[in-house]
Amino acid sequence: MPYKLFTPDHIYITSDAIDYPVTKQILSTFHNVKYTCVDDENSIDRSYTVLLLTKQRADFYKNCPGTKKYICCGYQILNLINNCEIGCTYCILQGYLDEPYITVFVNIDDLFQELSVLFNGDKNRYFRIGTGELADSLSTDHFTGYARMLVEFFSDKRNAMLELKTKTTQIDNILNIRHGGRTVVSWSLNTPRMIASEESNAPTLDERLLAAKRCQDAGYRIGLHFDPMIYYPNWEAEYKEVIDRVFEFLEPGHIIWISLGALRYPPYLEDIIRERHPNSKITYGELVTGIDNKMRYVKTIRIEMFRKMYQWLKKKDPNLFIYCCMEHSDVWKRSFGWTPGNSLTLKNMMDELIQ
Ligand code: SF4
Repeated sequence: MPYKLFTPDHIYITSDAIDYPVTKQILSTFHNVKYTCVDDENSIDRSYTVLLLTKQRADFYKNCPGTKKYICCGYQILNLINNCEIGCTYCILQGYLDEPYITVFVNIDDLFQELSVLFNGDKNRYFRIGTGELADSLSTDHFTGYARMLVEFFSDKRNAMLELKTKTTQIDNILNIRHGGRTVVSWSLNTPRMIASEESNAPTLDERLLAAKRCQDAGYRIGLHFDPMIYYPNWEAEYKEVIDRVFEFLEPGHIIWISLGALRYPPYLEDIIRERHPNSKITYGELVTGIDNKMRYVKTIRIEMFRKMYQWLKKKDPNLFIYCCMEHSDVWKRSFGWTPGNSLTLKNMMDELIQ
């Protein structure tokens, strides 16, 4: 199915969000879509095609919910938008968020205020921040325009950088603007077979790579995330082909980091996947409960996948920085031949890449 930009069939607005410029701009973009003002979010139609405009009443900024039991990269996240319409079969948001609809927090000025206080308050600390935790960073950009505002805000920050993580091709808003080298634009990649079966509403591999190339040509550094890698017959040949394809589009020197992560999900997601995506076979793999209580492939499979990916990537360019997302030190060592040993070391290594 070709990638289609999200258009809601109904918009709800909480009373405290009505007067914000972003609300007005979104209503004018979707001038044909009916909207309703509500005092109480419980009265909203619980549908995947609904859009809620409201105010973020908590902090926008949070630490990534990694786990102390695995090595994590020390990422921080901004919750500007909740949920995503792309509908990947394995998406953790299906069970993590209570609501099916997309929520956009419209008080973006409060976000910039919060970040300014944070960055100025601790000039010796380095902030590596992403918006792709509870949403795709760019899939709603055709009506929010947030990416451009964020990129320009980060462009002169000396102790912070932004990562926009996406599967989409929505980059036009950020191509001809000042970014100051403070934004990394990243793509999640998978094999064409897995894209067709598990990410069927997202752009194809080549469409993503073409968008990445256009960002590279605009001077952005590019991140790549092979996550979640899925183990299936012929995975080896097909992931290797993806790597070959990547370097037909991108220069290794412009790729700042590449992450590898194998399929993992909390046990309660299994029933949701089977019910919402009955054709998906991902839950039938050799998955066991990890020490973080998530289902993941047995260690030998993870190591086999990471080791081969690492070798194929390093053959393309030995200088590529490759890391594992939420893995044991032991898995690092057996897959890559080295390990950062702990989360702080990995965080420092990644902060240095961008400074
Ligand atoms: S693109 Fe990301 S956030 Fe959107 S459905 Fe897929 S996994 Fe979830």
